[in-house]
Amino acid sequence: MSSASPRSHRRASHSPASSLTNEPRRRPHDDENLLALGRIGLVTLLATLTAATPAFAHEGTGLAGGFLSGILHPLTGWDHLLAMVAVGLWGAILGRPLIIALPVIFPVMMVAGAFLAMVNVPLPPVEFGIALSVVVLGAVIAFRYAAPVWLACTIVAVFAVFHGYAHGMELPSAADPAGYSTGFVLSTGLLHIVGIGIGLIDRHETGRKAVRALGALISIAGCVFLWKAIA
Ligand SMILES: [Zn+2]
Repeated sequence: MSSASPRSHRRASHSPASSLTNEPRRRPHDDENLLALGRIGLVTLLATLTAATPAFAHEGTGLAGGFLSGILHPLTGWDHLLAMVAVGLWGAILGRPLIIALPVIFPVMMVAGAFLAMVNVPLPPVEFGIALSVVVLGAVIAFRYAAPVWLACTIVAVFAVFHGYAHGMELPSAADPAGYSTGFVLSTGLLHIVGIGIGLIDRHETGRKAVRALGALISIAGCVFLWKAIA
């Protein structure tokens, strides 16, 4: 007996790369539901972001805690969290080899960015770079931009430097620099995995729309960060 509904597997054989710009036949009802869901998500997100202003400021002040504060910082700062989830999600959409490469490049370049800050290499405004990373990484998901491997790696690498640089300056004054860094990188990896996990729903038609909507929300959140970074 074949119990599986043919509809749910209709598009299962499509490779992510080949269907990136091929929008499947739209069902008006799905679109309405998604639109409503998107609106609710947007309102909730904007409300949270406005309320959570102090969570993403990088003033370069000393860090009190060690390992635990390192773990908590990316999880409690929307700017890091959204960018790091987006890296995993974009990798999942693009498939191999980027599903592996992007979540490896980000933490490595983040550590490199922290090092640049420690040796006082100047960088354009860090807060601006982090905000821009959220805008761009959300947008590439929303538009399902199938970047060539080298370009996707470069985009992720450059933005990762900013995320690391933001904390490199304060690391030497931290109570436990090694512990803080380890926690921070662990958390980053966890958020990449969350992004890859979200990418699983991208295989289905409706899920693909939800992923695009999520990308749009992330990008809009990035615009809020950008505005706050400039203002
Ligand atoms: Zn931070």
